[in-house]
Amino acid sequence: MTTTVRALSTPKASAGFESTEIERRDLRDNDVRIEIEYAGICHSDIHQARDEWGGGIFPMTPGHEILGKVVEVGSDVSSHQVGDVVGVGCFVDSCMECQACKDGEEQFCEKGVVQTYSSKGYDGDVTYGGYSQQVVVRDHFVCKIPDGVDHAAFTPLLCAGITTYAPLKRHGVKAGTRVGVIGMGGLGHVAVKIAAAMGADVSVLSRTDAKKEDGLAFGAKNYYATEDESVFDDLAASFDILVNTVGAAVPLDSFMGTLDRGGVMVNLGAPEDSLEVSAFSILTMRRAVEGSMVGGLAETQEMLDFCAEHDIAATVEVISADKVDEYYEKVVDGDVRYRAVIDASTFA
Ligand SMILES: [Zn+2]
Ligand SMILES: [Zn+2]
Repeated sequence: MTTTVRALSTPKASAGFESTEIERRDLRDNDVRIEIEYAGICHSDIHQARDEWGGGIFPMTPGHEILGKVVEVGSDVSSHQVGDVVGVGCFVDSCMECQACKDGEEQFCEKGVVQTYSSKGYDGDVTYGGYSQQVVVRDHFVCKIPDGVDHAAFTPLLCAGITTYAPLKRHGVKAGTRVGVIGMGGLGHVAVKIAAAMGADVSVLSRTDAKKEDGLAFGAKNYYATEDESVFDDLAASFDILVNTVGAAVPLDSFMGTLDRGGVMVNLGAPEDSLEVSAFSILTMRRAVEGSMVGGLAETQEMLDFCAEHDIAATVEVISADKVDEYYEKVVDGDVRYRAVIDASTFA
């Protein structure tokens, strides 16, 4: 007997959401059943619900920023208890045996990680994400939410938080590191807060001045509107790290010139179009372009604890389930301040 729960799903690419029911599996010995409180809307949910990357499995229930309460645990689960507040991010299973898994980078599992939705588990069952009342997840893939934090504001950290924390940590960002954050939407605003909490000198590179006051309030020291292209000359060789959080293809070459010698551009966005960068942008000043994709479970827990300790979280708009289609447009237009989070009680 599976458990039927209310959910939002889209029957085919770009069809819009309908209120439906989905089935959650019976608990295996190492499973945790979570009553969802909030589910964040990530830009990649939109890419997938519109099948912009191809290969989407429909009907689709997106959502890979999930926060809720444990309501049942399997007989072998010792790491989580009924009543715990927990989070689930972008994936819900991996082989746990390959080198990537052993290294704590389950997202790069050689057997293929099981994504939280629009994916198939190792049993062949399709996965459905957080836009629903409940989810059942293997215990290893469930993180603890620290006590005393704002649940809605912590929800987006399960994707936006780890996606930005992991490369900042990997590059040893600390007091005095010059970090430029390109784009200040859902990912970008969290990148600003985390980099500032690490002590970095953070600059926001946004198209217009519209978010300047917020950017400075989030901890940035500087804010530049790139619609005035003279900014790129003024900022030549100014940064150690650039974090590109834009979901559409941006002219990387303009930005590359703002990296100092040995600087790294970390690309986090996933546009359909290729990213283009000229050889000279990287040859001169020995610059690099790299990608980064979320982070493993241990690092995700470390990020959650770091954010609680530094009293930071996402800045969110809590919305009801009937507003999701509208907010998809707002996310694409850059009109959300700064992450939309669905109140899961409205899925009923
Ligand atoms: Zn995401
Ligand atoms: Zn693996």
